[in-house]
Amino acid sequence: MNRVFIAEKPSMGRALAAILGRPVPKEGYIAVGDDAVTWCFGHLLEAVPPEGYDPELKIWRRESLPIIPNTWKMEARKDAKGQVKVIRELLRQASTVVNFGDPEREGQLIVDELLQHLAWKGHTLRLWLNSTDEKSIRKALASMSDNANYVNLSHAALARSRSDWLVGLNLTRALTLIGRSQGVIPSGQVLSVGRVQTPVLHIVVMRDEEIERFVPRDFFIPYIQAAHKNGEFKAKWYPQENMEGLDSDNRLVSEKVAKEIVDAATGRSGVVTSMESKLQKKEPPLPHTLGSLQAAADSQYGLSAQATLDIAQSLYERQFTSYPRTDCPYLKEEQFADAEELLKSLAEAGCRGAENANHELRSGAWNSAKVEAHHGIIPTGVKPSGLKPDEERIYALIAEGYICQFYPPYQYMAHTVVVDLGGNVWKASGRSVVDLGWRGIFTADDETKDLLLPAGMAKGDPIECLKAEYEAKKTTPPARYTEGTLLDAMQHVDRFVTDPRMKKYLKDAKGIGTSATQAGIIETLKGRGFLSRKGKQLVSTALGRMLVNAVPLPLKDVQTTAIWEALLSKMASGDIAFEAFMSEQERLVRSLLQQTELVKFPGAKPPTLCPECGQALQLMSSKKSGAYWACFNKAGHNGSNAYYPDDNGRPGKKREPAVATGPMIPCPEPGCGKNMRRLESSKKAGCFFWVCENKAHPIRKDVEGRPGDPFEASLKAKRGKK
Ligand SMILES: [Zn+2]
Ligand SMILES: [Zn+2]
Repeated sequence: MNRVFIAEKPSMGRALAAILGRPVPKEGYIAVGDDAVTWCFGHLLEAVPPEGYDPELKIWRRESLPIIPNTWKMEARKDAKGQVKVIRELLRQASTVVNFGDPEREGQLIVDELLQHLAWKGHTLRLWLNSTDEKSIRKALASMSDNANYVNLSHAALARSRSDWLVGLNLTRALTLIGRSQGVIPSGQVLSVGRVQTPVLHIVVMRDEEIERFVPRDFFIPYIQAAHKNGEFKAKWYPQENMEGLDSDNRLVSEKVAKEIVDAATGRSGVVTSMESKLQKKEPPLPHTLGSLQAAADSQYGLSAQATLDIAQSLYERQFTSYPRTDCPYLKEEQFADAEELLKSLAEAGCRGAENANHELRSGAWNSAKVEAHHGIIPTGVKPSGLKPDEERIYALIAEGYICQFYPPYQYMAHTVVVDLGGNVWKASGRSVVDLGWRGIFTADDETKDLLLPAGMAKGDPIECLKAEYEAKKTTPPARYTEGTLLDAMQHVDRFVTDPRMKKYLKDAKGIGTSATQAGIIETLKGRGFLSRKGKQLVSTALGRMLVNAVPLPLKDVQTTAIWEALLSKMASGDIAFEAFMSEQERLVRSLLQQTELVKFPGAKPPTLCPECGQALQLMSSKKSGAYWACFNKAGHNGSNAYYPDDNGRPGKKREPAVATGPMIPCPEPGCGKNMRRLESSKKAGCFFWVCENKAHPIRKDVEGRPGDPFEASLKAKRGKK
């Protein structure tokens, strides 16, 4: 076998195979002549859980934290074992492997970690693809480079995933155990924290608290109905600097001053002190990034960020649109050559504005220097078919984002007249549209309509005040977050810091999380019960607030996570060593754990003490037995842990160990040679079972006083019958 291509997803593998030659489908891969194309389903491997390092770690205990693996172990995901085997077999026969992960750090790692897991050391190339149409694939195939060139990218993804694991796992366990021991959460509730999710939750909580603290204030807007010889118009009072009665936002908050202004204007005449008309141009918005697409879909159709990402991903996999997980709105200059053909196919597909677009117009979107790993999301020209209604909407948003590049700017004259009257300054503005340009594609709104002032006004013209009044208004609190505005906040977290150095880090990192993960973060916070959706609004729950208010600052501060992202992108470009970053992460985890020791949740109850030894008990829970209490002070209980069932939030009567009865009998397990002991259940008197001296051997049923089938085997047999 010649080359083995490993794609990130089956759909990508199939698209590639169709172009390489005559595809022959096989089990888990496609043969194409001498080559094979196989695939992952995202990450096929996962970090083994703590109990994979030490069975004792399955139990959540504060004493066992921090959990920091010396040598990290990966294992195949349960549902991916078959595919890993297929790839292992293919690698045995391969002369060259091609990493065909998605073109980003996560895609790089998905294939690289698999190659490492399977100990592949041979020749490896990288196929880097931004669009999945045939032309782009052929171009990329002709320019594959050595996969080793991407090792830093791989490291950055690995560092991210390991630090997520370290922080998430250790701090989630610590805070959950503290919450349980202080009696503020039920035993099944998990207080999860994460590198990105906790700062995002913090952002929402801060906003919600600001809204609830908000006290509306009255303010006043004086205005006049003014008469010019060519017509009437309404002009608003314009505050002068250092005037009496203004607040810090230059709002007039004194009703007394408002009355004085109105009285001074009533019945007076004044003069136009300036009349300006300026041509304003608005260039078309750049093509969509994932963030702008999600925001548009949320505000126009109420689609969740995750739903929009899923649809964009599916459109991409069906080759209708380009790669969706992009932060960059720009396009490569050479893509301009595709415009005529692409617009034609969009017109045939009935896309709004495509028919009248001018393919020779070149907007500011074509700028290769600004394109990083991916360009803006655009249609590929493959005619979409079989789209569901929401898919059609997302496709239209993407198509229109492209089409409007081929329209002239929206142009209008902005008129401003300033009037001096009654000792005050009054302003009115108007607008006359010169050319709708790209705005003409979209439905008309207030901004695209004319707003007229009397014609021919000029400096020095006399003005009469027909009527003077003031409007009373109330200041309004900031708006609750929606999924769209929260995504926007994640992408522009620099708003939340003042330090200019931090601002720059955050801008370079393009926010917290990646556009690929941001929607998932919101889903997680909703799933944990920290955020709830009320209509379009996202509101923090009491549980979410309790958590945010208790966690140490570095865990919720956007600066921490932003610095991490900045470091990761430095690692991707080879400026920071992987090992240095990871040892810093370990130090941080230890320090965060120390800080959580001081956490006191509101309403915390004193610890529940062990009725036998007086040490603090831990409230535990397991799927099998529900809530129970554990004492890990072995010294107080003859060298073993003590367990108590939960009795309405208190430790109940202790479970007694099972009692041995009768003589021992040799274990029937082949080659064991040890003995089995017959025990009577402490829960159910008269109920017996058999346990081998070799603890690894299964517990057996009691059949007429002798060891019968193992419990597990009979369970499996039952399941098999179903
Ligand atoms: Zn005890
Ligand atoms: Zn045995």
